[in-house]
Amino acid sequence: MRAWTLGSGSKGNAILLEGSGTRVLVDCGYSPRTMTQRLAPFGIVPESIDAVVLTHEHIDHTKGILSAHKKFGWQVYGSVGTLTALRELPAGARQVLAPGATTSIGNLDIVLLRVPHDAAEPTAVLATDRTTGFRTGIAHDLGEVPEPVAQTFERLDLALIESNHDEEMLRNGPYPGYLKDRVASRNGHLSNRQSGQWIARLWHPWLRGVVLLHLSETNNTPAIATAAARAVMRKCGSSLVPAAAPQSEAAGPFGLPVTTQLALGL
Ligand SMILES: [Zn+2]
Ligand SMILES: [Zn+2]
Repeated sequence: MRAWTLGSGSKGNAILLEGSGTRVLVDCGYSPRTMTQRLAPFGIVPESIDAVVLTHEHIDHTKGILSAHKKFGWQVYGSVGTLTALRELPAGARQVLAPGATTSIGNLDIVLLRVPHDAAEPTAVLATDRTTGFRTGIAHDLGEVPEPVAQTFERLDLALIESNHDEEMLRNGPYPGYLKDRVASRNGHLSNRQSGQWIARLWHPWLRGVVLLHLSETNNTPAIATAAARAVMRKCGSSLVPAAAPQSEAAGPFGLPVTTQLALGL
């Protein structure tokens, strides 16, 4: 399986997964036009995407979903809470998926996992390639990592997880107090420290990649976030280099064998 991030952060989120001929978009925080532009360098057209999975209804994850459904006819998978919050989505587009249950989209098995965040019924996503067994986990927008999610993410091949803020930058930064409290709360976002603790738990010698998601442009930098993650991974004995998903451009593919990544200069 391979993954591309099309943008990650409070201005928009979308991640494309591809495995054994199936393409699934996780979140749709961009207009069809922007997604088309960001996929073009990889030779991918949105019409080739089989379906969309939404993690939660916040606007930075769903801004483009109505127009994308109209333009591309995508079916939209999500928890009942997420889909109910998207009132304008036509009934025929809705595919309710209960957290913990498995559904198949083409050759990918998709499971949603409940996470704490200030949305109706927010979830992380586990995608398993039924042909190769490759497992990718995506978790952005969560204030802490629930035990069942931590356990599920222990055997991933590719981990894309939130690393939203540096705790000191948040504390000393320009956000008003209520917003600082919200971001740092269990219904907010994971800090670099929390993300590092999670990486230490999910790392294993066969892990193919770690991609850091949803970095704050005010309270974090890609250099600080990746340095924090890399320090943890070195302690684990890993030579993997974590990547930080950029806010406003596409990146990837992630998840290729390390030798292929080196050959491509990634
Ligand atoms: Zn978000
Ligand atoms: Zn959110």
